[in-house]
Amino acid sequence: MSIKENYQKIREEIPDDVTIVLAAKKRTPEEIVEVMEAGATDIGENYLQEAEEMYNALREDAKKVRWHMIGTLQKNKINKALQIFDVIQTVDSLDKAVAVNKRAERMGKIMPVYIEINIGSEMTKSGVEPVYSVIENLIKEMSTLECLSVEGLMTMGPRFGNSEESRPNFRKTKEIFERIKALGLPGVRMKTLSMGMSNAYKVAIEEGSNMVRLGTIVFGERE
Ligand SMILES: *Cc1c(COP(=O)(O)O)cnc(C)c1O
Repeated sequence: MSIKENYQKIREEIPDDVTIVLAAKKRTPEEIVEVMEAGATDIGENYLQEAEEMYNALREDAKKVRWHMIGTLQKNKINKALQIFDVIQTVDSLDKAVAVNKRAERMGKIMPVYIEINIGSEMTKSGVEPVYSVIENLIKEMSTLECLSVEGLMTMGPRFGNSEESRPNFRKTKEIFERIKALGLPGVRMKTLSMGMSNAYKVAIEEGSNMVRLGTIVFGERE
């Protein structure tokens, strides 16, 4: 099946209120144009350099979609990131939050961010440790940063393997999401729970995800 057919099939299968972010790493501008023509609304990039190249290659079309930073945010590249991205999904420390806030303030904008949780406590993954009190403290501190709009949580989990193995972690993330939401903190509007990739997006949606990030299942295997 083509990229277009893959995208449209999944779009039809999942509920309308679940956003699909297309993970664009290692893809060509032609592939991204194809998925945009199929109706894609949101593009995720892992590396600022690739994001910039893609953004420039798409020219006017780039403005037709929302851009999500889904890779590790490097502090020395925040200015550029704020110019390209509509949301940064990978804030995982107060340090980074403060840095984003400071630069957003200078640009006179309010930056939507999600907090990345390392729900499986995987050594290789970035993200806040999955201890509720740690996450709550971070969000409370972040809610005082006036140029950040905290709008969701993001989690990665294993990219391969049985999707059922991810279910308990998705469930835990959803619980944290609901607890944070119930705090009703100023500057915090918990709208988005970004979890689920090609291997487990269905299970993630069953457990409350309203944003899945898909690469392989739409574009095929990466080189
Ligand atoms: C690559 C990537 C995805 C998509 O992974 P697939 O297995 O190709 O669907 C989602 N989220 C992040 C953060 C990624 O780096």
